[in-house]
Amino acid sequence: MLSHEQTSGVTYNQQCDTYAWFSQRAWVEIDLAALSYNVKQLLKILSSRTQLMAVVKADAYGHGAVKVAQTVLESGASWLGVATVPEAIQLREAGIKAPILILGATHTPEQIHAIAHWKLQPTLTSPKQALVFADTLEAINYNSFLPVHVKLDTGMSRLGTNWQEATEFVQLVQRLPSLAIASIYSHLATADSPDPTIMEQQQQRFEQAIAQIRTLGIEPPCLHLANSAATLSDKALHYDIVRVGLAVYGLYPAEHLRSCIDLKPVLQVKARVTQVKTIAPGTGVSYSHQFIAERELRLAVVGIGYADGVPRNLSNKMQVLIRGQRVSQIGAITMDQLMLDVSELPNVQEGEVVTLLGTEGKEQISAEDWANQLNTISWEILCGFKHRLPRVALA
Ligand SMILES: *Cc1c(COP(=O)(O)O)cnc(C)c1O
Repeated sequence: MLSHEQTSGVTYNQQCDTYAWFSQRAWVEIDLAALSYNVKQLLKILSSRTQLMAVVKADAYGHGAVKVAQTVLESGASWLGVATVPEAIQLREAGIKAPILILGATHTPEQIHAIAHWKLQPTLTSPKQALVFADTLEAINYNSFLPVHVKLDTGMSRLGTNWQEATEFVQLVQRLPSLAIASIYSHLATADSPDPTIMEQQQQRFEQAIAQIRTLGIEPPCLHLANSAATLSDKALHYDIVRVGLAVYGLYPAEHLRSCIDLKPVLQVKARVTQVKTIAPGTGVSYSHQFIAERELRLAVVGIGYADGVPRNLSNKMQVLIRGQRVSQIGAITMDQLMLDVSELPNVQEGEVVTLLGTEGKEQISAEDWANQLNTISWEILCGFKHRLPRVALA
């Protein structure tokens, strides 16, 4: 049997609950009240027919899957979505009983045994995979019905059977002994775009496939299509479940969706000043001397670097917050450390806390700011924080 330790390669830092982090050089703070607030804000825009699935894949987008899962369930989410079997097992081992949908593909007998054992719910993406599930379950004399979620590809060109072949696929799954269709779903490719054309086309294809399935006398028990962006943009996309990741963590999938709902960022990244010194004009800073001091300046070394998930491409471009003020980072970001110009701040001390992402007073630096600077998306920034940073849960 797969266990989390053997398979995930991820060790969740158990210091979450303790305040041992005072001794840390760098950490990630998780604001559970903000997380709960976001879930409740999302529930407000859902009709009573629609359930909220919190997507907690990739260690809850870097926030720490177990604590996040417990909090979102207490706050009103009904489902959890993960990418892999080990991610789901981690939640079950922590005692979480809610239904868990595995959004990724699963194929091997080992994975299927684990799914049955831990009462997980797989995504079925193709007839071939459905047959492997049926054969594997038969071989272990599985004497129940495994809830499975049929995935249709309506235009994302990722997992799923093409929507034109939906009826044959659903009929096959329906015929297989130990499988029970729990839902039929699809995933949107452009829900974050202000132009809804492709999203509408995907929804039409989804509707068409479902209509054809109904003509066979099969009533899908549950339908779902929406990610965060679709959940915020159009109630007609909500169906029976919405699968929300990014918005649960308090970030907006697109600028034009900001006005739809009030969300609070859940994650903050902090580190401590480890040394302060004065450098003379003309002094080079860090590897390759990409920064040369034009005048005498006060330099602070901070104990966080690219091995923690601060992207090296932000070198010489990023700012951080100390005492609520913006301070410039200087020189190349190194593996475990980075440098700041703190000349404008009086008497910065070793041990002072630096906010890399987060809010201090009126100033805020967000994952979106980093994403914009790096020409990527905030999802990637959140997932980039490494596990050597303890996740500290603030209640
Ligand atoms: C990751 C994922 C989601 C959540 O996406 P967000 O944009 O973060 O809300 C929903 N559905 C599927 C299939 C996913 O893979």
